[in-house]
Amino acid sequence: MQFRDLPSVETVMAAAALEDLAQVYSRPWLVNLVRDQLQVARDAIGKGSGAPTAADVAEEVRRAVKNITRPSPRPVINATGVVIHTNLGRAPLSQEAIDAATQAALGYSDLELDLATGRRGSRQAHLQFLLRQLTGAEAALAVNNNASAVLLGLSALAAGKAVIVSRGEAVEIGGGFRIPDVLLQSGASLVDVGTTNRTYLRDYENAVTEETAAFLKAHASNFRVEGFTAAVEPAELVELGQRHQIPVLHDVGSGCLLNTEKYGMAHEPTPQESVKAGVGLTFFSGDKLLGGPQAGIVVGTRELVARLERHPLARAVRIDKLSLAGLTATLLHYLLNEAEGKIPIWRMISVGVEEIERRAQSWQSSLETKATVIPARSAIGGGSLPGETLPSWVLAIPCQAIPGGPDAVLARLRQAETPVVARIGDGQVLLDPRTVLPEEEPDLIKCLQIAVAG
Ligand SMILES: *Cc1c(COP(=O)(O)O)cnc(C)c1O
Repeated sequence: MQFRDLPSVETVMAAAALEDLAQVYSRPWLVNLVRDQLQVARDAIGKGSGAPTAADVAEEVRRAVKNITRPSPRPVINATGVVIHTNLGRAPLSQEAIDAATQAALGYSDLELDLATGRRGSRQAHLQFLLRQLTGAEAALAVNNNASAVLLGLSALAAGKAVIVSRGEAVEIGGGFRIPDVLLQSGASLVDVGTTNRTYLRDYENAVTEETAAFLKAHASNFRVEGFTAAVEPAELVELGQRHQIPVLHDVGSGCLLNTEKYGMAHEPTPQESVKAGVGLTFFSGDKLLGGPQAGIVVGTRELVARLERHPLARAVRIDKLSLAGLTATLLHYLLNEAEGKIPIWRMISVGVEEIERRAQSWQSSLETKATVIPARSAIGGGSLPGETLPSWVLAIPCQAIPGGPDAVLARLRQAETPVVARIGDGQVLLDPRTVLPEEEPDLIKCLQIAVAG
């Protein structure tokens, strides 16, 4: 047994490796970390390992301190090619949006103060003009995220009443957001009509009763039904709703304000189309194809938006000032017609394939390992444009000769100083330049060298 060879807490604390840390951090905290590491060593000895030296334990403590004190979440290089990657924080912000959020964080602001009158103002006022201009709606409201926007909308308009939804649209978006569950939570009851693949206007019409508070349409944003299908267009539903005094609510999901066909992708429904069709309330996210910070946006008629504003949940799900500032700056890019050049996700989507190929080739030439540049596809992701991909080029690293193969290379990339997230295809590690920011390239190359060395 090696337990008696374990160094004492005091010996570890006196180790050279902890000298500078002891100057900065409180002694009781460091002592606790030393105890934790000694326990780890004790467990390892129980499993047959030898006892570490005081210097070894001190080194582990240093590592633990570094882990604890580094910013969290950590910056990660996204080499997956998935433009809106929910696990990686969705849309990166434009410099202008970052500056606006920083400014809002740094000092005080007129967040809820009307500078003209000196009276209390509304935080929504900062966004309303832009959202009305961009979508054509009469009124707008921004909240914490799209899930809370939909919950607020249903709670304010349909609690205690019925909402009619097509069976094909009673969907789960992911991360716990399911249309039937949100309806239940709002206090409204779900009346599902039609079938999974086909729903007609008469299905909605036959389900209308005194109890009907709304028709709800939800964009199936992460899957596609193909083949023998039928769905009712928002405009048709609006027409039916007008005859029965029932508003149409439309969860479009990604908040895409640009025309995706221009980039060779399928058409993604836009908020402005819903507004034009006469939809009462349209809901969308701020951090998907809008390319801004996390937020939920509602645009619609003055009367319906006012009902949402008055509901107690509106306060519970209100947008915070940093997101609000970032969102305003992001929306301004659209108003100034500079979204494609300034908003990172639109730059990534619109970049030419030749440019991607050129970047992959430059990565290849700075690597000492054998690698090729091959054609591939990048996905949009994040509950936008299901199944849609863009033509791309990737750096492909064959891994047969590398210890642990492609899985081990991916793991080493994730554990690098600046973690890199990549994917595997045909037994090779693939890195897509589309989603890697140019200033991240030196770090990426450095991490790759280490990861492929094994
Ligand atoms: C993504 C999505 C949501 C959830 O939006 P969050 O902003 O993540 O809360 C809701 N509905 C649809 C259709 C979506 O695509």
